[in-house]
Amino acid sequence: MMDMAISDKDFKALVDCHPRAMMLATQEPRILYVNRAFQAVTGYEASAVVGEKPSVLSSGYHGRDFYKGMWKRLSSENRWEGLVWNQRSNGEIYPQWLTIYGVEVRQAQCYVGTFMDVGDLAAMDEQLASLAYYDVLTRLPNRHLFQAFLESRTGHQDHSPAHFSVLYLDLDFFKEVNDLHGHAQGDELLVRVAQRLQSVLRKGDVLARLSGDEFAAIIEVDSVAGTEAFCDRILNAFKESFVVNDQPHYVSLSIGASLFPFHADEDRSLLEKADQAMYSAKRSGRFRYQIFDPEINRKLLYQESIGQYLSQSIIESHDEFSVVYQPHYMLDSGEVTGLEALVRWHHPLLGLVPPSDFIPIAEKRGWITVLTTIILKVIQNDLAKNTVKLPMGIRLAINVSARHMLDDDFVSQMTRMRRHTDQLNWELELEVTETSLVHFNDQLSSKLTVLQEQGIRIAIDDFGTGYSSLAYLQSLPVNVLKIDRSFVARLNEQSADSTLIRAIIAMAHALSLEVVAEGVESEAQRLILCQLACKHGQGFLFAKPQRWSAQLFRSLDMDQ
Ligand code: C2E
Ligand code: CA
Ligand code: CA
Repeated sequence: MMDMAISDKDFKALVDCHPRAMMLATQEPRILYVNRAFQAVTGYEASAVVGEKPSVLSSGYHGRDFYKGMWKRLSSENRWEGLVWNQRSNGEIYPQWLTIYGVEVRQAQCYVGTFMDVGDLAAMDEQLASLAYYDVLTRLPNRHLFQAFLESRTGHQDHSPAHFSVLYLDLDFFKEVNDLHGHAQGDELLVRVAQRLQSVLRKGDVLARLSGDEFAAIIEVDSVAGTEAFCDRILNAFKESFVVNDQPHYVSLSIGASLFPFHADEDRSLLEKADQAMYSAKRSGRFRYQIFDPEINRKLLYQESIGQYLSQSIIESHDEFSVVYQPHYMLDSGEVTGLEALVRWHHPLLGLVPPSDFIPIAEKRGWITVLTTIILKVIQNDLAKNTVKLPMGIRLAINVSARHMLDDDFVSQMTRMRRHTDQLNWELELEVTETSLVHFNDQLSSKLTVLQEQGIRIAIDDFGTGYSSLAYLQSLPVNVLKIDRSFVARLNEQSADSTLIRAIIAMAHALSLEVVAEGVESEAQRLILCQLACKHGQGFLFAKPQRWSAQLFRSLDMDQ
């Protein structure tokens, strides 16, 4: 039988042939020994590092606290494992997965560090794949490994930190590719996308697949301009098609970026901010990038929270909604001719939210019909309050959106409301913004015709801000034009820019439409409007929108 005793030489050969880089260091610490894989990964000859401090390998990315934490864990658990950014002999900085454990060598406490280059794909076949750190499809680091990368880059910096950017990349409409061409083709496309992204990245940059069609990258740039140039390069690279199964696919993607340490100095919030920036890139049209911007983000979060709270309030807190009324008047006599109902939303956390902030959201998310039902209920309650002696012949105007008119219930909802105004001998008027007329079709105009035949009046709101043609106006069932307040604002004593208002009024009269001027704020404006034969007006000069009360019906004294 062979002698089983293994010599020191054999042990040395064993260590030297090991596929992982190994380094033995004293507690001092000084490097005692390095194997061949070490020399291959780091580029350092053994003679150059033996006797030196292990810190010759360090990149400068990690601060003192990082190493303190490492030693603390080593002394308590005799083992440390994690991602470390080190520097090769040629200056290149690279991430490595490092495991350190204590061993006793000739009665002295020593440490072994074993590592591999995690950027090196060959390494993944080995250990790391089993650590579930890589994405099987694209062979890129997965979310876990990416987080470890980020953590080790941001953690415990104590001297001036090295700058970098985090990109969040999300493919646009990728679901359609899967739905249309099947998952196999979708997968193949993802692999190509990963390769193309990788080809734009430079050595030392890190690319990972976070999930489905989401990727993230750490790129070594130190400025906004550098990040922008980089994002442009990526977008450019995606202008060319990807050919999968002889089929060309055009893939677009949206990119969000955050900069370390300007936007955040902590890994989670860096990625979160890149994600938020990506979301706003999507919102502003896709196939573009957005650098994190606190102002844009604040607005986005505000809108998001409005959306969330609004859906709750519409379902369960109807009393948060109230209605204020703004009268309109005969511009010459000061007599009240009508009231416009304007919704108010008072949320316990958000405070008073202006309708211009939440109405568009309610429209977009399909809640406008339910919301209008709530508003109409409030108005009906106000009308039923017999504390106010109501004059007859008042017009009650409510604002309706085109999206709402599409709804099946729209006509019956308005008919029910008309019964309430009928009882008071009032008229119901619906205000439709001019910009919403672009959504008009035969179906919508016939709905309005039905309502008009019931005696409901139709007003075009914010007139002058849209593009309605004369022919179009004539074909629609319309009774009133409300001139947008931006035109009224141009009327003042010194320079009365009345050309447009004059034209609008002339046109309205030619079509036998009544004209109401919105946003009258000064006596000078009122006088000019009277001269221009505009009979009706509304604005802060006369009355601000206010709660239901007898005050609403008080005529004003107008100077003739
Ligand atoms: P709008 O229909 O053009 O309403 C007029 C807006 O101008 C109101 O703002 C009113 O407070 C304001 N205003 C009135 N007079 C003056 C003035 O002299 N000067 C100035 N600077 N502003 C004046 P508010 O109440 O914030 O409403 C904004 C918009 O929200 C409304 O514009 C309307 O489009 C929408 N809205 C309000 N209530 C409702 C509603 O119940 N349903 C729907 N669908 N939309 C509504
Ligand atoms: Ca209005
Ligand atoms: Ca208006």
